[in-house]
Amino acid sequence: MKIGVLALQGDFAEHIIMLKSLGVETAEVRLAEQLDGLNGLIIPGGESTTIGKLATDFGLMGPLRQFGQRQAVWGTCAGAIFLSKDVSREQPLLGLMDIKVARNAFGRQVDSFEADLDISELKQATGTDEAFHAVFIRAPIIESVSADAKILASLSDGRIVAAQQGHFLATSFHPELTGDSRFHQYFLSLID
Ligand code: GLN
Repeated sequence: MKIGVLALQGDFAEHIIMLKSLGVETAEVRLAEQLDGLNGLIIPGGESTTIGKLATDFGLMGPLRQFGQRQAVWGTCAGAIFLSKDVSREQPLLGLMDIKVARNAFGRQVDSFEADLDISELKQATGTDEAFHAVFIRAPIIESVSADAKILASLSDGRIVAAQQGHFLATSFHPELTGDSRFHQYFLSLID
């Protein structure tokens, strides 16, 4: 199994370290041909407008959309924004996952916070019982998901922070920063 990490901008290196710790072959993706032969792709956190601009400039929008027709794609934070269909403003989006996202949803004063999330799918898939410690950095929330998408995690006030639609996964937070590889394992379980 070989998983790519979109390496235009953001914290792609941390995802690669996490995948390697799980014994998975990895590839940094900057060019369309680097998608060939991959079984899945992670789009990291960073700045979604910058990722979108660079993906447009590098001719990656079409190839990424085609890749997502067949293969699993997971967006973390800015990556989740880029993967979505709607962010209520103009910026390049892949539009692969039918979710509506609000950027920087936690306001400027509270740029970052951490929370323990109870995620039953994750526990089941990994045979563990602990909550997932999630790190939010200028994070978006998932405002709504389509009827065929599944909410994986919400904050205690009900705001959605992780969702899945078929082989697409979106998390508002950064599982690559915590040393807990269960979300990465969960993503690998979506790959057939
Ligand atoms: N605030 C960033 C954006 O809107 C996302 C931040 C992140 O990826 N940590 O794209």
